[in-house]
Amino acid sequence: MLLILTGPSGTGKTTLIRHLLKRYPDLGFSVSHTTRPPRPGEVEGRDYYFVSQAEFLRLLKKKSFIEWAVVHGYYYGTSKAEFKKSQKQDLVMDIDVQGARQVKKLTVENGYHAVFVFVLPPERKVLEERLRRRGDLSPEDLRLRVKRAREEVRFWDDFDYLIINHNLEEALQELEAIVVAERCRPKDRRKEGQQIIKTFR
Ligand code: ADP
Ligand code: 5GP
Repeated sequence: MLLILTGPSGTGKTTLIRHLLKRYPDLGFSVSHTTRPPRPGEVEGRDYYFVSQAEFLRLLKKKSFIEWAVVHGYYYGTSKAEFKKSQKQDLVMDIDVQGARQVKKLTVENGYHAVFVFVLPPERKVLEERLRRRGDLSPEDLRLRVKRAREEVRFWDDFDYLIINHNLEEALQELEAIVVAERCRPKDRRKEGQQIIKTFR
């Protein structure tokens, strides 16, 4: 299963994914490359691969990314190597709306099953407040994020699921329900299903 969380910055994607990975340690996380500097507590290779702009552009030229975007002035991209992890384990991705639309196109064109979850805040004011409280943005950056969010929320009903992150525990329950349901698809249970069918022969 490839599970993609998308939505404006500050809606709680990182928080939701962190909790989900704790509860489902067998889920992998697609570690993106970024040119943005690390925030306090972020770990190289766990949260992101932090690279210079020159290195990112070199990788881009080498066609190392399945999707990429410039978000708030920094480059972000998902490498082919990270994407390939989804062949071996269920994988979660945290990408912006532009990137999610690229991945959707790619998976549809290649007949690859992926599940897209859009995360919305309960309202704009709450998004602004959460970004402000996270405390890592200048007033100008905050304004830019809210402006970008206005564009991104237009795509809210283009994806498979919508989570409204009002109460974190409830949002997490909804996300878990999606994982559980997706894991019940026959395609993801082929081995188990075939074993059972054998007993009927
Ligand atoms: P994103 O990854 O989408 O940019 P984050 O996960 O960094 O968003 O969340 C933005 C801020 O909002 C963080 O400070 C986080 O702790 C807080 N947050 C996330 N979900 C909730 C929630 N349901 N209620 C209150 N605060 C939340
Ligand atoms: P942040 O800097 O707050 O971690 O992330 C900013 C935005 O970049 C978020 O919306 C996040 O989903 C997005 N993002 C993170 N990694 C990628 C990626 O590999 N590709 C794209 N397109 N967006 C990403």
